[in-house]
Amino acid sequence: MTDADAERQMQFLFSLRQRGVMDARVLNAMEKVDRGAFVKGLFAERAYEDMPLPIPCGQTISQPSVVGLMTQALNVQPRDKVLEIGTGSGYQAAVLSHLARRVYTVERHKRLVTEASAAFEALGLTNITALAADGSRGYPEQAPFDRILVTAAAEDPPGPLLAELKTNGIMVVPVGQSDTVQTLIKVTRTETGYDYEELRPVRFVPLVEGMGQE
Ligand code: SAH
Repeated sequence: MTDADAERQMQFLFSLRQRGVMDARVLNAMEKVDRGAFVKGLFAERAYEDMPLPIPCGQTISQPSVVGLMTQALNVQPRDKVLEIGTGSGYQAAVLSHLARRVYTVERHKRLVTEASAAFEALGLTNITALAADGSRGYPEQAPFDRILVTAAAEDPPGPLLAELKTNGIMVVPVGQSDTVQTLIKVTRTETGYDYEELRPVRFVPLVEGMGQE
């Protein structure tokens, strides 16, 4: 690592802490994943800034501090099987892959799945499976999951995803109408039902049913 890389890395971690990402395991996982590997083209040089950026198919890679806060809220354990809905660039899945035993990530745009899979391979991340499918139906073949992270906004936590959560499992999902303020929700499945906790306002692209155009 050059001095410039080390300086950039320190700045990156500093801004995560400043925005409330305190969990040492999460910071450690984020230190290991080069966000630059997930942002191509025009915006590549801004990969280390704490801002969302455009990716192909009209989608966005989330802001690093939001990735950190969502990952922290998910409280992933080393033996966990995790489902992510909304692969996008693959960055969030790569962070999760350092914390969990296995990560399944589902994306409705085939092109994004192909590009994210190539990035996982280049980084040697072998415990992630990316699948082109409509994630609002969950991933029944691999259910149930210890943790589910939805990185697109739904009007309500999708029923099929709630059903695929193990007892004591946690789901983190942005909820609300698109283009208005959404709220990040943490859902915990109990023996008898579900507990809901509101975390913070966020802004995500909408969860859209069906497959994407490309
Ligand atoms: N987690 C991503 C950012 C996600 S942006 C990252 O780290 O880069 C939200 C993504 O959700 C978009 O790529 C969008 O295509 C996808 N998406 C929206 N609705 C979906 C659905 N029903 N099933 C699967 N993916 C969906």
